[in-house]
Amino acid sequence: MYDLIILGGGPAGTSAAVYAARKQLKTAIITNEFGGQSTVSETIYNWIGTPEIGGMELGENLKKHTLYYKGPFLDVIEGEKIVEVTKNESKITVKSESGKTFESLALIVATGSGRRKLEAINADVYENKGITYCASCDGPLYADQDVLVIGGGNAAFETSVQLLAYCKSVTLIHRSAEFKADEITVKKILANPKFKAITNAEVIRVDGDKFVSSLTYKNKVSGVENTIQTTGIFVEIGQTPNVEFVKNVVEIDKIGKIVVDPMTQMTSIPGIWAAGDCTNGRYHQNNIAVGDAVKALEDAYIWIHKNK
Ligand SMILES: Cc1cc2nc3c(=O)[nH]c(=O)nc-3n(C[C@H](O)[C@H](O)[C@H](O)COP(=O)(O)OP(=O)(O)OC[C@H]3O[C@@H](n4cnc5c(N)ncnc54)[C@H](O)[C@@H]3O)c2cc1C
Repeated sequence: MYDLIILGGGPAGTSAAVYAARKQLKTAIITNEFGGQSTVSETIYNWIGTPEIGGMELGENLKKHTLYYKGPFLDVIEGEKIVEVTKNESKITVKSESGKTFESLALIVATGSGRRKLEAINADVYENKGITYCASCDGPLYADQDVLVIGGGNAAFETSVQLLAYCKSVTLIHRSAEFKADEITVKKILANPKFKAITNAEVIRVDGDKFVSSLTYKNKVSGVENTIQTTGIFVEIGQTPNVEFVKNVVEIDKIGKIVVDPMTQMTSIPGIWAAGDCTNGRYHQNNIAVGDAVKALEDAYIWIHKNK
């Protein structure tokens, strides 16, 4: 039985693992893969200590740093998707999709979040047939084409920047009047003649044959529907926390995030902490995920020694 199991191999999970190993807690970090969400980013400019770093490189560094501590105190288990967590008086049991079970005294959940899916008629039909959730992966397939980006936050604007490098035009469709992205980024992109933004627009329907050929949206102010011809739709409308496997054990808020005490990152259940994007912390970034996880680990360390 482990002192501590850490779930997730993004910035939060790997930080907790490095700190746990250095404190010589008998720990396992279990993740389906290493790196976390921003591995799809071309360049990250705010990873503190590194003015510019590719998303993939950041992810590889997180894995490298974790593996550096693999040894008597740290088991590194990659390729296992966790599907269930249960807790009784004396231990926590974690089960993976492949049927493996792992046991520990304490648990840190750092499984981050995944993409929120577009809710519109035919959005499921055309997923991967013109609708995509990863510009870095699929963007180049749409070179010289007229594409749409759905969303109004940093991820939507970042995606637009990537696509503007090789697409014929990029039209951003946003449901509100105001953008949520950083002002400096918005201003820069709005000045690009290949870029257009449509606000107050609710996506109604996607149409096509084998692949996407158009998208219809409704102007939320006038109620008028418009159809735009396009071959590619890039969806960047936010995240859904990866907490399915633990939702019956710890308190989850209205939008599906794990509720934590911001002083300690402890969940509603003593012995279980959560850190990073899967929590109800108000802000989510790589650096915040790291800080949250270190805080969780420090608290877990004290708790484990009291309860062992
Ligand atoms: C496109 C994009 C660009 C971004 N750009 C920036 C930026 O420039 N700067 C910045 O600071 N932040 C950026 N962010 C936000 C940042 O990526 C997140 O805040 C950060 O990754 C959160 O870290 P995390 O460790 O909590 O979760 P994640 O990074 O989501 O990592 C979760 C980990 O858990 C694993 N996992 C998930 N479910 C399971 C399961 N059931 N079983 C086992 N393992 C599981 C995943 O494989 C992954 O390893 C960006 C996000 C996106 C999507």
